[in-house]
Amino acid sequence: MLGDQLNRTSAAFDDFDAQHDLVWMAEAADESTNVWVSKPRIAVFLAAMRHFAAELTADGVRVDYRRLDEAAPSLAAELSSAIERHRPDGVVMVEPGEWQLRETLRATVAASGVPLDEREDRHFLCSTAQFERHATTRKSLLMESFYREQRRAHGILMDGDAPAGGAWNFDSENRSSFGKQGPGMVPAPALFAPDEITLAVIELVHSRFADHPGSLDRFAWPVSRGQALTALDRFVAERLAEFGHWQDAMWTAEPWLYHSLISAALNLKLLDPREVVARVEEAWRAGQVPIEAAEGYIRQVIGWREYVRGIYWMRMPAYADSNALAATEPLPDFYWTGDTGMECLRDAIGQTLDLGYAHHIQRLMVTGLYAQLLGVEPRQVHEWYLAVYVDAVEWVELPNVLGMSQFADGGVMASKPYVATGKYIDRMSNHCGSCRFDPAKRVGDDACPFTTLYWDFLGRHEQRFARHPRMALQVKNLARITDEERAAIGARAGAIRAGVVG
Ligand SMILES: Cc1cc2nc3c(=O)[nH]c(=O)nc-3n(C[C@H](O)[C@H](O)[C@H](O)COP(=O)(O)OP(=O)(O)OC[C@H]3O[C@@H](n4cnc5c(N)ncnc54)[C@H](O)[C@@H]3O)c2cc1C
Ligand code: SF4
Repeated sequence: MLGDQLNRTSAAFDDFDAQHDLVWMAEAADESTNVWVSKPRIAVFLAAMRHFAAELTADGVRVDYRRLDEAAPSLAAELSSAIERHRPDGVVMVEPGEWQLRETLRATVAASGVPLDEREDRHFLCSTAQFERHATTRKSLLMESFYREQRRAHGILMDGDAPAGGAWNFDSENRSSFGKQGPGMVPAPALFAPDEITLAVIELVHSRFADHPGSLDRFAWPVSRGQALTALDRFVAERLAEFGHWQDAMWTAEPWLYHSLISAALNLKLLDPREVVARVEEAWRAGQVPIEAAEGYIRQVIGWREYVRGIYWMRMPAYADSNALAATEPLPDFYWTGDTGMECLRDAIGQTLDLGYAHHIQRLMVTGLYAQLLGVEPRQVHEWYLAVYVDAVEWVELPNVLGMSQFADGGVMASKPYVATGKYIDRMSNHCGSCRFDPAKRVGDDACPFTTLYWDFLGRHEQRFARHPRMALQVKNLARITDEERAAIGARAGAIRAGVVG
């Protein structure tokens, strides 16, 4: 069992015989050092693995659990030695969530001469083979058509053949900003004080990964199935009703707002997406939440989440090297510290390092947008996202970063780059009010770096997007800027890249 396969309904247990079989799990250091993984992410994975192993043991399952201090530095070396130790008739493995890891584990088992029985990950509603069939029988790979097919195939939010509530998508009712009055009192999410197992992990991470980024002072993530179910219940009862409405809004020092905070629990497989969407649909059918909240939420879980997984497995391994916009800049150092004068980035990066969490719009339209406008090499952006978020697993992180936020795949996932000036951030948050930059200005000492870089981005990619059906209008606006101002934008963008402004 790998660290993100912590479910008792996994195919690995289908014919498990407690008399003869055992579960092998290992905490390998290379999983935390291949990229510079943050303390919260390491702690979530190790704490969840230890809780799962303890539950299996309590149920009478034999577990060979190798702790970090006793395990070989690499997962592959540890697996080889486990195979030598136990001399099994065969190894059963559910498909891993990372292409390279799958290749490594396949090769390791093959080298040991023991047969490998690799099984489908039934956690997902759509298998990789089903997604490939869906993708190859269509001209365009739009998320929306995939999502509708998922709804129909699994009878989710359906009234007979028709979408429940009378429409497939209620996004026009969602995505407001808080306005000047702010979010007011937001119901607190379920937070979990670390128990003995988690405290031991926290101590281990402090001593073994002291120089890794991030903090464990506020660690309160669900790390067992029981806790994950409580987190889901609390979300549905107290915050789901407002989810859609405030889905894209941001507010300084309000990290959670109306988000569910269950992505890590889902990705570790502590929760099943079917039970999550069933709870949400029930709440709507019982009249507890509006359709736009329920539909908006369900779309994220059975639409986006499964769609990005399908893209990942169809496109890997080449996908990881995508760089359609030929971006080569280094990731700014402040991504690892939050030490910047740009308030929106300081807030988003600060909470990311403190908690291992930022919500979708912070990831897409603050940290992701800035990296894209700056022209950061996509691989460096990917490695940062994989390192810092508690829910980061490559199958979901990579397409979101390379495809959705950086347009590095040239339009496989997103039909256009998500680019905007600082005015978008100003509209959706209160960050600009306390920032020394002005989101409306593209040149001058107080010009917002997002706004300067937006115009610089359009200028740099003018040729590419001039006839693009969804970008041409944005590019056309360049014509209104004088040559003199374009030169000033270029000069200021250069100063931003050199770290003189920011
Ligand atoms: C650049 C970038 C990187 C991202 N990296 C990750 C990642 O490493 N792991 C991860 O799970 N999500 C990732 N996402 C998607 C999304 O931001 C997170 O799933 C979400 O913020 C998690 O918080 P939540 O549980 O409170 O989600 P909510 O806002 O409450 O959403 C509900 C659930 O929907 C699912 N979901 C929503 N959007 C997406 C999406 N675009 N892709 C996949 N699932 C989605 C998640 O499971 C989430 O728990 C990324 C998005 C972007 C733009
Ligand atoms: S002015 Fe620009 S840098 Fe400052 S908070 Fe607003 S968008 Fe961010």
